[in-house]
Amino acid sequence: VKLVLCQLYPEHLSIYADRGNVQVIRRRLEWRGLELEERPLRIGEPLDPEAADLYLVGGGQDRDQLLVAEDLQRHRGALHSAVAGGAAVLAVCGGYQLAGHRYIGQDGGEMPGVGLLDLETRAGTTRMIGDVVCECDLGGGAGPRTLVGFENHAGRTQLGAGCEPLARVISGQGNDGSSGYEGARAGAVIGTYVHGPLLPKNPWLADWLIEQALARRHGQVELAPLDDGLEFAAAVAAAARSS
Ligand code: GLN
Repeated sequence: VKLVLCQLYPEHLSIYADRGNVQVIRRRLEWRGLELEERPLRIGEPLDPEAADLYLVGGGQDRDQLLVAEDLQRHRGALHSAVAGGAAVLAVCGGYQLAGHRYIGQDGGEMPGVGLLDLETRAGTTRMIGDVVCECDLGGGAGPRTLVGFENHAGRTQLGAGCEPLARVISGQGNDGSSGYEGARAGAVIGTYVHGPLLPKNPWLADWLIEQALARRHGQVELAPLDDGLEFAAAVAAAARSS
């Protein structure tokens, strides 16, 4: 069994160690005897909506976001059909903003997104920086989990009716510093402000993404449990620092 992963614009959108998310997916597959094939997408390249099971897009400064925003528009249709065909998506920070309808910068300039998530983002005058701890329930009977990481963004994100919040903020700012929510989810499409990177400290979320992605071509794959003692200790340390 092989998972095909497409990281969007790895050179432009991979700030605060977002690349680590790819490594976590790779290792958690390999530890179970499963395989990862990476097919990164760079500016100017074509996107085959049939190819990947999982799309990852990281964060970046406004400048880098702007550089890829135009290219990303070319793939709007392909990305929507990939998601309709069962692909999973993890979009972080700048990538989260571009997964929505638009990002409105401090100068009022508008950057279009691809509308995979029903949300829009407006840059504020202050940055929201620091550790974040949330409670996240992805359904399916697993119950609420603690999601921890690091945020650094000026954008304030408002969710529309077409998606639900990913998590409830326990400490930190989340989507806008006032709603009490962090991130967004619509089916297997997840957006979040959490870096650090996200997946090493939240391995249950990595496995959830792997399951969603593998289901596209392999149906329900039972993932063997792993010893997440170190990951859990990292999450506890991060949560303690934040409170
Ligand atoms: N441009 C975004 C913001 O500051 C994204 C920042 C990031 O990806 N860390 O809101």
